Amino acid sequence: MSQSVSQRSNHLKPHCPKCERVPLVSASGRASRLLRCTDCRGTWLPRDAAHLEAVRELLQADDTIRPGSVADARTGLCPFGHGILIRAKVEIDDSFYLERCPECMGIWFDKGEWNKLAQSHLLERLDTLWDPAWRFRHRQSRERELVRRRLEQSFGAETLGQLDALVDRLGDAATTVRAEALAYLEEKLGLRRGD
Ligand SMILES: [Zn+2]
Ligand SMILES: [Zn+2]
Repeated sequence: MSQSVSQRSNHLKPHCPKCERVPLVSASGRASRLLRCTDCRGTWLPRDAAHLEAVRELLQADDTIRPGSVADARTGLCPFGHGILIRAKVEIDDSFYLERCPECMGIWFDKGEWNKLAQSHLLERLDTLWDPAWRFRHRQSRERELVRRRLEQSFGAETLGQLDALVDRLGDAATTVRAEALAYLEEKLGLRRGD
């Protein structure tokens, strides 16, 4: 009984989702709706503060993220007592997790995560990170991009462009024609077992 009372009074003062015992403090000036942890230097972004210019100004001065940091490896509780935050994996070069409260929709950024997002242009579509369909499409297009990058390294952008042009020309052809084209390439490239 006494425990639930102390838990409730804890919620009156928002605490850091990652450090738990550390109270969050308001940022200064125009970004005063943001709450920050003086210990881990993470930031709580309330639902309706996402597009404040002041938020950008404040967080752009943030330090670089360290991938795989201890804080990033786990989720935490909503500072306003709504329970556990839901994680979303941000799949860019150094993947990391963001946490969002399913009730008040506030978002927790570990130190440096805001800047990582800003660089990848995902900042404009924050909510989509928690949308499974969008995440699936994003992952697919990211995998395609990685394959492309690897191919470019293997034989250069110019040759890749020529292959793309070839695909464009033959893409709408009948299946048998496409199969013939592939067989021709395999033979020319010495990939066919002798018959
Ligand atoms: Zn903290
Ligand atoms: Zn909440």
